[in-house]
This record gives sequence, structure tokens and C-alpha cells, in this order.
Amino acid sequence: MLSTMQDEPLSLATLLKYAATFQGDSTVSTWTGTGVRTMTYREMGAESARLANALRGFGIGVGDRVGTFMWNNNEHMVAYIAVPAMGAVLHALNIRLFPEQLVYVANHAEDQVVIVDGTLVPMFAQYLPNLKTVRHVIVANGDASALQAPEGVQVHSYTELLAAQPDTFDFPVIDERSAAAMCYTSGTTGDPKGVVYSHRSNWLHAMQVCSPMGMGFNGSDNVLAIVPLFHANAWGLPYAALMSGANVLMPDRFLQPGPLLEMMEDQKPSFAAAVPTIWGGVLAGLAAKPQDISHLRTAVVGGSAVPPSMMRAFQEQHGVRILHAWGMTETSPLGSVAHPPAGVTGEQEWEYRYTQGRFPASVQARLVGDDGSVVPNDGESLGELEVRGPWITASYYSPEGGVIDPDKFDDGWLRTGDVGKISPNGYLTLVDRSKDVIKSGGEWISSVDLENAVMGHLAVAEAAVIGVPDEKWDERPLVAIVLKEGTEAKAEELRDFLADKFAKWQLPERWTFIAEVPKTSVGKFDKKRLRAQYADGDLTVTTLS
Ligand code: ADP
Repeated sequence: MLSTMQDEPLSLATLLKYAATFQGDSTVSTWTGTGVRTMTYREMGAESARLANALRGFGIGVGDRVGTFMWNNNEHMVAYIAVPAMGAVLHALNIRLFPEQLVYVANHAEDQVVIVDGTLVPMFAQYLPNLKTVRHVIVANGDASALQAPEGVQVHSYTELLAAQPDTFDFPVIDERSAAAMCYTSGTTGDPKGVVYSHRSNWLHAMQVCSPMGMGFNGSDNVLAIVPLFHANAWGLPYAALMSGANVLMPDRFLQPGPLLEMMEDQKPSFAAAVPTIWGGVLAGLAAKPQDISHLRTAVVGGSAVPPSMMRAFQEQHGVRILHAWGMTETSPLGSVAHPPAGVTGEQEWEYRYTQGRFPASVQARLVGDDGSVVPNDGESLGELEVRGPWITASYYSPEGGVIDPDKFDDGWLRTGDVGKISPNGYLTLVDRSKDVIKSGGEWISSVDLENAVMGHLAVAEAAVIGVPDEKWDERPLVAIVLKEGTEAKAEELRDFLADKFAKWQLPERWTFIAEVPKTSVGKFDKKRLRAQYADGDLTVTTLS
């Protein structure tokens, strides 16, 4: 028996129409360094129509890829909704990829148009001659004439192009399973791989972001989107904002702690999202120059593990609740979110908040052991996390059709490459990425546990731990420490600090003090580069006896 329900597709065109009308007074604002430039959702609706008309004028139709090479700003937000709403596919390019990777992903996705920020034109100009499928470049917030067009490519000024377009467009409602947007993994552990989101997956995911079990933001929030729009589907923030009518605050290129704090002082966002390294910088900025940031009711932090010391510092010193979440480009990205269960308080509540979070009903999760069998969710047994659900990718994009690599997929489940445990009530605690776990004498040492613990030392600004070859034990941990400015700490002292938190055999003997932990294109610790620095003999290592 079929239901009597209407078979209405979940469509980003419908979302745009809704936001531009019933939430028309909500705003997107971009920080300029001294203030904001603001557009209402109503204005965004008209701007989206102008952009869609311009793209249609270039011959862009359903399924064609439109790239962006932009900071988080008003124009990027317009592209984020207008491109999928017209049936085309948004491809937000990661501006921090290595040149070969950037060229690879734009060619692999076959981007036909790229919208580029004026300030990024000099960088983009280096790539453009190698982009094989790009026919049109639109320069926003800058001088289009500064970009030399190779033969066969036309360069346009965003402002001039859009000024000539009608401000209505008949956005088509297409099959909800159609491609809406694509994103490549940032290549932290390999070549970038393409994930294609559908209208349906983005719609359902946005509902989860809005839900109290997700990020839980609503129409009275001012959401500061620090996470780049090119990182992991922008964590779902743009579509969730349109759905909830939240105001959005975009930092543009002002991403250093100082300017971020100035913007917060001026704009008082109530909600923010960024990776831990950003928040580490913000904490240091606040220590140097105190400021009240208690207007932030919640900051969602994920992408890598959040050190408990960082969570406590934000809560206890600044009244800001850090909400820890786990996800991947492949999972749209929201997987689990660390809301503690009802009724827990005190230290027990903190223990829940430190976890990577609880899975929602739409994300099924299981752990698989080395022998391929499923291990129990008993809060102790370790295994590789596998997930499935309506906003989790079933393959990687290839022009010839989705690629289902058995290393990455297991009988309809996505293999995450993350190792952890799941409690009987559905909370995930990650131990490590499988590639980062340190295998010492047949036992595992979690690099993340060591990092989290040592970052609790008052002198430590950042710490990254990698496994390095060892004759006797196969691998041993090497701790790379960045000290806070004006502080001192010796390796012995730091090891003593860890002594009551780890078994003796887990305590690292190798230490190195560095000026900065290398970061990936999305601001995570780049352990691949750290390993290479060690292998090349670039690190001065102290070995304790
Ligand atoms: P990349 O794989 O290129 O870094 P993603 O941002 O998609 O790009 O990375 C997803 C990975 O980030 C996850 O598989 C996991 O290893 C890590 N990750 C995400 N959130 C967390 C978290 N809260 N704690 C620990 N690791 C996390």
C-alpha cells in the first residue's frame, strides 16, 4: 500500500524561494575589516536570479559544474544557493590546495565557469592556463581586467555582468536525487576525492543541522561561518541558515585571531563554526587582549579532535559552549554531535561533551575489527568506524561513474578510516585515524590522546604526535611541541606532566620543539608533512632516557 502523501521533491530551488520570501528580512553580512556589507535574503533571491540568468547565458544547464574560488562572503553565499537552485552543480574550490591538486580537481570536475574573488585573482591566474574545461571566469569584488584570459576563456566583472540581468528566474524543481554540489576531500591522507551531494541529501542534512540534536541554530542566531565554504560542504551552514532564517556573518579574508576578534566585538555573533586550530588562536588572542565573547552561545568545533583543555577554557573563562562534532566531506559532513544525554551533570557531563558525539537516527554506525567482523558498541571495543545514511556518499565521483573502492566502502557502508569505540547509548569516541595510530610493540598508542593531554599543559600552545620508526618497538611517538609565547618547558617536565595520565610504556621519550605545526589546506595538523620533516632530518629531537 502506498501512502497518501504528496511526492514533493526536496529541492534547493524550493529552499531559495522560501528563504527569499518567508525569511526575506534575514541577512548575510560580510566583514570588510572595519564594518559589514549586508544583503537581505530577499536581495539574495534577486541576486541569485541575476546570477542564474548570467550562467544560463553562458550555456550552463542542469548538471553543469560551476566552480567558486572565493572567501566566505555574500557573493559566495549567492553562488552556493543560486547554482544548485538552477539545476547546475556548485563546486567550491579549496583555495589552499597545492597548485597541482587545485588544477587536478577543477579538471576532474570539469568546471565550466569559475567565480573568483578579486583578491584571489593573482593566485587563480597561475592556474587558469591549465584549467581545460573552464570557458568563463567571473571576478567578484575586484578588477576583472587584472586577469589575463587565455584563448577560449572570457573574463567578466561580476557587478557588470549581473547588472545587465533580470532579477527573476524560473528556478526548476528537479529530481531530488540530482547532483546539487560537489566537494573534494582536502587530501590530508591522499589525493583529493570527489563527493557529490544531491538536493535531497543537502535538504535532509540541513534539517539535521537545524535540529536540537544537530547544531540547533535557529532564526534568532547570528551564525559566524569561519569554516570555509569549500571545506566539507561548509558543514551544511548555508542551507541550514536559509532554512532556519538565521543571519549569517562571513569573515571574508579576515581569518587571523586579531581580526576575527575585532569582528566579533563589532557584530556579536551568537553561533560560530570552525576547526580547533582557529579556536586555539582565538584563545591565545583573548589571553593577550581580554574581550567579552559571551555573546557566542555555541561554537561548533570539529574536523579534528577538540582538546578537553580547550573546551574547558572557553566555558570557564569565556562562557562559550564548545559543541564537539565529528564528520567528513563524505558525510555532508554532520555525523555525530556531542550533546550529553538528559540528566547528566558535572564531570559526567564533561565526559560526554569530550566525545565526538552521539549519532542521529539518520546516520547508522558500526565498528569493524581487523578481521572484518563487527565489534560490539560496548564503549570499550575498538574498530574502524563505518557509517551509512541518506547524506553519506556511496561512491567517489569519476566522470565515468561513481567509484566504489573496496578500501573505502564495505558492503554499502562508508569506511571512515577512523578508529574508535561506541558506547551502548550511541556516543562515539575516536582514538585516531587508522593511519595515525602509533603501533608500539604490538600495542596501539593514540596520537590524539597524547596531543589532547599535553595541550592541557599551561606552556603548550599546540602539540602534534606522530609515530616514528623504532628498532625495538617498530614505532614510538614523537611529540612536536609549540610553546606559548613567553613560556618555557623542557621535555622532562612535559613527560612528567603526562605520567599520571598514561601507562608507562605509552609515555613518549622523543620530543621536538618547533615554531609551528604544519597545517593542511583546511587548518588541521598536517602529520604527513611532519613525518616528512622528521624523515628529512629537519627536526631537532630530544630523546629522554
Ligand atoms: P580530510 O580527510 O581531507 O581531512 P575532512 O575534513 O573530510 O577532510 O576530514 C574528515 C576527517 O576528519 C574524519 O575522518 C576524522 O579523521 C577527522 N575528524 C573530523 N571531526 C573530528 C573530530 N571531532 N575528532 C577527531 N577527528 C575528527
